[in-house]
Amino acid sequence: MPDSYKQLLDISDKLEAHYKDMNDIEFTIQDRKLWMLQCRAGKRTGMAAIRIAVEMVEEKLITEEEAVLRVDPNALNQLLRPIFDNEKLKSEKPVARGLNAGPGAATGRVVFHASDAEAWAAKGEQVILARIETSPEDIRGMDAAQGILTQRGGMTSHAALVARQMGKVCVAGCEAIQIDYTKGTFTAGNVMVKEGDWISLNGSTGDVYKGNIPTKPSEVIQVVLEKTLDPKEAPTYQLYAKLMGWADKIRRMKVRTNADQPDQCRNAVAFGAEGIGLVRTEHMFFEGNRIDSVREMILAPDLAGRNVALSKLEPFQREDFVGIFRVMNGLPVTIRLLDPPLHEFLPHGDVAVADLAKKLGRTPAEVEAKVESLHEMNPMLGHRGCRLGVVYPEITEMQARAIFTAAVMVKKEGIEVHPEVMVPLVMTPGELKSQGDVIRRVADEVFKAAGVSVEYLVGTMIELPRAALCADQIAQQADFFSFGTNDLTQTCMGLSRDDSGRFLPYYVQSQLLTADPFEALDQTGVGQLVEMGTLRGRQTKPKLKVGICGEHGGEPSSIIFFDGAGLDYVSCSPFRVPIARLAAAQATLMHRKG
Ligand code: PEP
Ligand code: MG
Repeated sequence: MPDSYKQLLDISDKLEAHYKDMNDIEFTIQDRKLWMLQCRAGKRTGMAAIRIAVEMVEEKLITEEEAVLRVDPNALNQLLRPIFDNEKLKSEKPVARGLNAGPGAATGRVVFHASDAEAWAAKGEQVILARIETSPEDIRGMDAAQGILTQRGGMTSHAALVARQMGKVCVAGCEAIQIDYTKGTFTAGNVMVKEGDWISLNGSTGDVYKGNIPTKPSEVIQVVLEKTLDPKEAPTYQLYAKLMGWADKIRRMKVRTNADQPDQCRNAVAFGAEGIGLVRTEHMFFEGNRIDSVREMILAPDLAGRNVALSKLEPFQREDFVGIFRVMNGLPVTIRLLDPPLHEFLPHGDVAVADLAKKLGRTPAEVEAKVESLHEMNPMLGHRGCRLGVVYPEITEMQARAIFTAAVMVKKEGIEVHPEVMVPLVMTPGELKSQGDVIRRVADEVFKAAGVSVEYLVGTMIELPRAALCADQIAQQADFFSFGTNDLTQTCMGLSRDDSGRFLPYYVQSQLLTADPFEALDQTGVGQLVEMGTLRGRQTKPKLKVGICGEHGGEPSSIIFFDGAGLDYVSCSPFRVPIARLAAAQATLMHRKG
């Protein structure tokens, strides 16, 4: 029926030109006559949405701005991560589902200890690290694993945010599994998984599978990060690059990254980051054997002892900052002072305590007593954040000296540096002043000794409701604000970021909450604090630079809110930088339209 066929093609073209979109049509041919029955916007995968939008601009059907608005920023995950081979996935059934904390697909043999992940990976094994929950001690094992699975914890738990920063696939808070470290197994319903068995994780959906499901690499990653593919040979990369170019022309807000290693910074810059919004310095405390000096500092009986240990730590921190400043090459770098409570750095369990005691020439009882004395009932609201620097100013001093010495060294190499020192968990202007005084004094000392000075800023995180309420007073002491929306959500809503994974999915299912507030900002409640903090801060300093470095900085609906609140930048993990660039462009267009 060539006539009907031609007629169908003509009508399809007409519909596409009219609706300026890819349509799904229904038709029938009866007695050789073509009848059109229905037409609507066609459903599409994220990947297809990007291709359709870009090609329609090239066909001059839609504008670049329309194309930018048409793509769900999260769809970029399908371009930026390995994904499962869809055909193979069809025949698989998940054994459990947790939180989709780090998107992409990963497959590997399961291990239950970070040290095993490292050792197996060193032998060339592909591993998935499964833990009840992770802690800073697990960082190297997490880095060695293809993916991370945790039984407990929410969207801003340690596992979730470290995995996103590393670009690892992560399923967190998977309460449907029961991990037994002593047996080296986990169970999911009546399925038993033993150490060494293959499992596969879909970090975009939270699904956990038993078995090895093949994955496909990302073309964008091969071009941008690994540099193993010629961009000319990578049609998907080309679509990505065009869309990102249009987004960058449009957006008002800057996009920075949360990163604390030079390689993470390099990835982020390749993804388009325009600076670092958060270096969590405590993440550097676990590299190599420097944890020994950290523990020596904590266990020191007096100031002199603490200073000895801090002076061992300082060169490590300095070296890290030098590496970061070099990679960032003149872009701003926000470095946050130590944040977690000190007991997080001490070992637990008889063997580890005895081991440390031996290394430091102490008795196990002495170490145990210190661990005991630092124990807190409610560590999230305990002796952490700037409260550490207030009680132990020598820690702030060491970190400031490491930052400014590194800055001077890199500047002397001819590389521009813009450090921004950030004080965490501030609740009163006095706290910020006390820390700011230490930081500025150390800066003066370092610059004088070096004969070179560097421009820098001292600012604060706004992550407690009181700080947002008193932002006008706090701004008197601050060159910039950065909203820590993880802690701000925790303290505004009274929800523990580490424990709420157990019940929040139920709240979302039963529509008591529209989304997990640790993932998408609670605009109604926490959002008010963001707006108020920004407004009040700028009442004192109209040009105050304001950003956000909580996990919401990489979540599209939150980014649109931050644009409306007048923030200058968002900061997110490296692999979310392109998502934030696109969402920020959409925000500009939406707010321009009103
Ligand atoms: C925050 O609280 O939002 C934040 C960025 O700091 P952290 O997650 O390290 O507490
Ligand atoms: Mg915080």
